[in-house]
Amino acid sequence: MALEIARSVDELRRLVESARRNGLTIGLVPTMGALHEGHASLIRAARGETGWVIVSIFVNPTQFGPNEDYQRYPRTWEQDLAVCQANGADLVFAPPVKEVFPPGYSTFVEVTKLQDPLCGGSRPGHFRGVATVVLKLFNMTTPDRAYFGQKDAQQARIIRQLVRDLNLPVTIRVCPIVREPDGLALSSRNRYLSPEDRHSATVLYRALETARRMIESGERNAACIRERMLAMIQSTPRAVAEYVDIVDYETMQPVANVQSGILIALAVKFGATRLIDNFLWHGESTG
Ligand code: AMP
Repeated sequence: MALEIARSVDELRRLVESARRNGLTIGLVPTMGALHEGHASLIRAARGETGWVIVSIFVNPTQFGPNEDYQRYPRTWEQDLAVCQANGADLVFAPPVKEVFPPGYSTFVEVTKLQDPLCGGSRPGHFRGVATVVLKLFNMTTPDRAYFGQKDAQQARIIRQLVRDLNLPVTIRVCPIVREPDGLALSSRNRYLSPEDRHSATVLYRALETARRMIESGERNAACIRERMLAMIQSTPRAVAEYVDIVDYETMQPVANVQSGILIALAVKFGATRLIDNFLWHGESTG
């Protein structure tokens, strides 16, 4: 079937209503475009579980800080359409900013506490922007299921809380991190890296793998693991650790001892390019 494109909420609603009249369940994959294989995996998951798949492409200004990369964030419209088409999306919803945040816009939603640590610490207001736009996208598209990546672990945790707290009638699916062969998590921002920094950027995955091995060989002291990870980053050319944290995935608060359900998350900068990655430790049996 041909891929449809909607730019306005009215157009979107007409198409969603028609899919519903045909008895189809709706899947939503929210993205900021510059689509890669990580996004494609979410589209395929939605394709497998729902009857009508919407991919939203919207570079959300409210989740970028004043000195962040909103203006230069990659916009690759033609390639994005090809990825959507190839992976079985039915509709691309790509509204202009003024359709989502018209002049005079003044309502925001905050998931308190969970929004503060990790990326929230270095990007104040980021998760307020994320939660607001995701709630709006849910209201616009009325999905039965929405698909997010574990790559943005704190975001996924916050969206689950938003859905629970506001009784939103949507099931959240969180899909595994898709990586390059050398372990670097796919990200729209990887294209900013120079060849040297691209080489160094594997330190995020290597540090997480070191943490995993330490835990698997019995280390339970979070400070020891953190220090080892920080030392690896410090010895990598141009890598600057923004944070390396070991937290309870439910509360996002730091833990002193490794237990099941912890998240090890890090953000590392190479010049102006900021990369994140994480690893969720479920406990002895699953690793
Ligand atoms: P973004 O376009 O960066 O806002 O990401 C849109 C969605 O794709 C989010 O739910 C991300 O977590 C997810 N995503 C981004 N990169 C990856 C990846 N490497 N593996 C899995 N999901 C990803």
